[in-house]
Amino acid sequence: MSKDDKQCRPYPGASVTSKLLFYFLIFLIMMLLVVWVFQVMLLNVFYRNTKMSEMERISETIQDAIIIGNDQPSSHVISRAEEYLICIRVFRVLPGDKIEQLWDVDVNDDCFLHSIPEEKLRMLYHKALAQEGHLQTVFPRSDRHPEFEVESGQAPDHVGNRIFTERLSMIGVDVCYAGQEQVPYVIMVNSALTPLSATVATLRVQFVWIAMILVGLALLMAMVFARSIVSPIVRMNQTAKQLAKGNYDVHFEGEGYLETRELADTLNYASKELSQNDRLQKELIANVSHDLRTPLTMIKGYGEIMRDIPGENTPENMQTIIDETERLSELVSALLDISRLQADAAELKREPFDLTEQLLISVERYDKLRGLDGYTVLFEYDSHVTVNADISMILRVLYNLINNGINYAGDDKTVIVRQECHDDLVRISVIDHGVGIAPDQIQLIWDRYYKVDRVHKRAVVGTGLGLSIVKTVLERHGAIYGVDSEVGKGSTFWFELPIEKE
Ligand code: ADP
Repeated sequence: MSKDDKQCRPYPGASVTSKLLFYFLIFLIMMLLVVWVFQVMLLNVFYRNTKMSEMERISETIQDAIIIGNDQPSSHVISRAEEYLICIRVFRVLPGDKIEQLWDVDVNDDCFLHSIPEEKLRMLYHKALAQEGHLQTVFPRSDRHPEFEVESGQAPDHVGNRIFTERLSMIGVDVCYAGQEQVPYVIMVNSALTPLSATVATLRVQFVWIAMILVGLALLMAMVFARSIVSPIVRMNQTAKQLAKGNYDVHFEGEGYLETRELADTLNYASKELSQNDRLQKELIANVSHDLRTPLTMIKGYGEIMRDIPGENTPENMQTIIDETERLSELVSALLDISRLQADAAELKREPFDLTEQLLISVERYDKLRGLDGYTVLFEYDSHVTVNADISMILRVLYNLINNGINYAGDDKTVIVRQECHDDLVRISVIDHGVGIAPDQIQLIWDRYYKVDRVHKRAVVGTGLGLSIVKTVLERHGAIYGVDSEVGKGSTFWFELPIEKE
């Protein structure tokens, strides 16, 4: 199976459209359920409660007015009564159980209050008195039925061959007292409860239509949303396939959403890094193979000359072979260092050690080794300091910096290693007075395989790995480091480590 076949194979898992549709439907079902419960199942309960509380509110308003001496209806009460189809009758009960009507509002042809005799009104008043002045009840009624009895709470379903369907009415009776003599006032409110079955049936039919329309809309929206969400991802996928084939010139477009834009930025960054890495790897292989071939050719050539021509077996020729071997060995150990650091195999073995002492030994060794070439490595310090670090790694940093100092040293052929203490930190600087580094190169020299001078010069030994090793080691130690450099004047590479208190 080719790579492309593999990419065309359908992947397991739901598509964005089906997922979106699924969530939309779940949401829709929940919404319809809530609407069903409230609009269809609980409609009657809500209707009754609303009526009941409105009746109570009207009665309370009237009682408040009576208590402060105002026994006439306010326009507010009348308009509320009209709005909610609530009939009102207000009486005063005089001695001898005599009822004196004060005022009434009759807004409903069906009103029960206005169709019963005074005797029944008195009876309702007494019932309310027996219940601490407040009576509220729902009962089946028909004012077309002359025999209706409130007490029984029942309306017969027929009289003779006239059939009465059950209709509900709600009545509220409140008794309050006003004036110096505490005369009892009776407020009666009444409202017919309209049967809601027809409304509920209408709502049910509407509900089915609403559900069908909403399902269609959900389907449509899921498709539109999915398309707009997925399109930047699909585009990025196409671009990523190009990248996978090794085309680093691609650009990821993630317009549409914050997340896709962020993803596109990350992918663009990754592709830039990949492309740079690829270029640098190729350059490294070219450089390293050149670096390996040249000394090997030289060693072979000098060896053959010394073998074949007895007079050529001189210490100078021997030295050339030794120098070339050293060049090879430097290259190989740099490669080894970088691959170990890369593989994270070289773990930090931190321990307190006398940094100054180690610097003294290293610089002395350097001086001996390089002394012949006329290079001088100086060490400046004022006291001994101890640091807690990986001794071999820190020395590796130092060797790389001193090597660079020597390789890029100026005419004075001098490299200065300086140790300075500031508060809790010790700063080690490696200073040369050579070519220096251009400001636009300063950020790049720490990159792996980077060489300012890309044209290979035999005079300058270098793999482009040294500063990358320095950077990795120092970052692992959490040390700060940097370089100050001026073209033509020289460079100062430095790093700082915390001083270990004894
Ligand atoms: P190399 O092995 O080529 O020296 P490094 O990683 O050590 O690789 O350095 C990277 C590049 O930084 C070098 O190629 C060189 O151009 C520049 N560089 C490093 N040290 C110095 C220095 N002391 N003076 C000038 N240029 C330097």
